Amino acid sequence: MALTEAHCCRLLGVSAASTLEETRAAYRHIARRMHPDRAGGDAEAFKEITAAYNWLVARRSGKVAAGPRAARTARTRTTAERRARARRAWEQAKAREAQKAREAADRARVDAERAKAETEAAAERLRAQAARAKAARQRARAAKRKAREAERARVETRWDEEFTDAWEAWCKTAERYHAQREQQSADAAAGRSRAERSERAEAPGADEEAKPWTPPAADADAPAGGGEPSGGSIFGRLRQGLRRVARKASLDRVGQDVSLRLPVDLDLLLKGGTRTLGVTRSAACPSCAGSGDEHCVCRGAGRVKVRETVKVTVPPGARSGSKLRLEGKGTAGLDGAPDGDLFLLLEPEAIPGFRSEGLDLHGQVTLSRRLAGDGGTVAVELPRGRVKLKVPRSSRAGDTFRLRGQGLPSWGGAEQGDLFLSVVIR
Ligand SMILES: [Zn+2]
Repeated sequence: MALTEAHCCRLLGVSAASTLEETRAAYRHIARRMHPDRAGGDAEAFKEITAAYNWLVARRSGKVAAGPRAARTARTRTTAERRARARRAWEQAKAREAQKAREAADRARVDAERAKAETEAAAERLRAQAARAKAARQRARAAKRKAREAERARVETRWDEEFTDAWEAWCKTAERYHAQREQQSADAAAGRSRAERSERAEAPGADEEAKPWTPPAADADAPAGGGEPSGGSIFGRLRQGLRRVARKASLDRVGQDVSLRLPVDLDLLLKGGTRTLGVTRSAACPSCAGSGDEHCVCRGAGRVKVRETVKVTVPPGARSGSKLRLEGKGTAGLDGAPDGDLFLLLEPEAIPGFRSEGLDLHGQVTLSRRLAGDGGTVAVELPRGRVKLKVPRSSRAGDTFRLRGQGLPSWGGAEQGDLFLSVVIR
């Protein structure tokens, strides 16, 4: 009997698309049962399935030529295998894609977490930096204040010394003058002649007054009132001392603070903003580099006036007397001494038609008799712009409308006051 694939498959209980492995497994299972050595074995059946198995193995290995039906079965199997392969490939590709998507999502999450952490770290760094900068500014301010106080103390001490110096010189002159007067009185009493007295008047004390003042030599370090003052320069010394005091005082090396008034218009008052101001300040003389050379264009002042523009940011809610400080924009310090600051004293302009009370504004609204009686709406101009006001029926003179948030901002703008309108009927 010629075996066919279908017959063999039926005997072994496998499908035409079964693999060699599956066929072998099926054969072993049945052969174990049918083996003639076993009780209940069936030699015929065993032979039959062994033949079918051998045929199928030969067929699967290509040793038996495929008939038209077998070829079709083989094609079916090939197609099925191809489909299965394609399906497996597709499933694998899908799995790979899903895996990729999961990985991308993971990466994105990690990236987002890292970005968040970095942002927080950056914010933390910025906060720390700001704190450090603030501390540094405070330290610099304290150092500057100290330097200024020290310099002031030094100038005052110098002034005292020089004044004492000049004062003592003056006292000496006065003493001498007094002695001279006494001498004159004594002479008069002794009945000396006028001629003799006029000769005596040529004494050194009177001579000094006539002498023109000469620039100081090296007497700046001479001890104050130490011994007799060198002849012919007592008044000179006095004048010179005072002059030196004046000049040194003008050569205060530490920059002074300067205050300026800054008018604040309505817009700046309500919203705050930035303004550019032209200010005149004393800067170090560029010609003598602040050394105060008497022959310099600055005539020894060490500073010259310069025109500068400064940018200032004014917060909303300025009050009369609010102060802004522009560091280092006052008088320039000399020889590395700190610059003074510029203080801007804010002066908000009055708001026409309104009176302020803290953050609140008080004004009036004029209604016609008819509008007050019947009610309706009226447009009113407020500092922040035009608003429509709802007027209830039977409004009376003296009634007050309260408009929340239409008042003045607090300094810095965190809060807003209210605006009150009292009714006037005309
Ligand atoms: Zn100069």
